[in-house]
Amino acid sequence: MIIVLRAGSSDAEVEDVCRRIERMGYRAHTIRGELRTVIGAIGDDRGKDRLKSLESLECVEAVQPILQPFKLASREVRREATVVPVDGVRVGGRAIVVMAGPCSVESRAQVLEVAAKVKAAGASVLRGGAFKPRTSPYSFQGLEEEGLKYLAEAKRETGLPVVTEVMEPEKVELVANYSDILQIGARNIQNFSLLRRVAETRKPVLLKRGMATSIQEWLLSAEYVLSGGNPHVILCERGIRTFETATRNTLDLSAVALAKRSTHLPVVVDPSHAAGRPDLVLPLSLAAAAAGADGLLVEVHARPEEALSDGAQALRPRELRDLMDRLDPVLGAVGRALWRPEGARRAALL
Ligand code: PEP
Ligand code: MN
Repeated sequence: MIIVLRAGSSDAEVEDVCRRIERMGYRAHTIRGELRTVIGAIGDDRGKDRLKSLESLECVEAVQPILQPFKLASREVRREATVVPVDGVRVGGRAIVVMAGPCSVESRAQVLEVAAKVKAAGASVLRGGAFKPRTSPYSFQGLEEEGLKYLAEAKRETGLPVVTEVMEPEKVELVANYSDILQIGARNIQNFSLLRRVAETRKPVLLKRGMATSIQEWLLSAEYVLSGGNPHVILCERGIRTFETATRNTLDLSAVALAKRSTHLPVVVDPSHAAGRPDLVLPLSLAAAAAGADGLLVEVHARPEEALSDGAQALRPRELRDLMDRLDPVLGAVGRALWRPEGARRAALL
């Protein structure tokens, strides 16, 4: 249930309603919007009649059921879009954010080179995996903490905040120490102990949709992080498994448009893992931007032919720059713009 307070309710009134909700055995979750405050009463819905009686309080406008199974993620609870602050970059505002970098951190030189190049191309966040969830145990598994150190060094050199994957609850603290956004990979979207653990960090979390999870399951995973006390959730659509085998996955743009409507959370699109090939990354990125995505997560490698993972889908830095140029008019047409770090100079030669 949600308790909608009248515009202009005082802090004391908000606290009073929260205390009453808690006395009824619910957890009170306050969401302060620009215009009004809404309190989510989280708990067993059997007490909803008692909650309804709160409508007799002067400061309460309405007590309503939340129709969606996900509560805190829902637009019913918060009408305005959530903007996730990432070390100076804002994900979820009018400007869309391009996050780019290699699938895996392979060496210090590799990550420093590509970080400088994606920055020059206009990206605002650096991606790179140090812990890699590989289908085969014989594939490159990542440089682990050493890789995290290289990412942190690349951040110091370029100023780009870092998004990197964390796969195990025990490693959350370590990864959080070196990064700005914790990526939950497609294979871990329903690892609930991991979700609870990343919630505790209060760091931005990029939640990739699983390759076979429904939109509802994806949003319920977001709910784990939100209800664990971390409001900084970024959703990421990266393609789902369908009967189609011509592409690595099928990019579900309906999910992007729907998630934008039914939740207040920012939604980014990973066209690289959806396509599995570099030539489709541009058209999928343009389509994602037109469908309302708040950002893109793109795999870029200085020399894709030498990559230790996902080289077959990586863009070259120059192709990323072209992509950003092509995004501009599409974004203009839908009333958006590209997030560009202040003073960023785009190198003529990549
Ligand atoms: C990745 O980002 O490199 C990755 C492993 O992605 P996903 O979890 O979407 O497969
Ligand atoms: Mn990858």
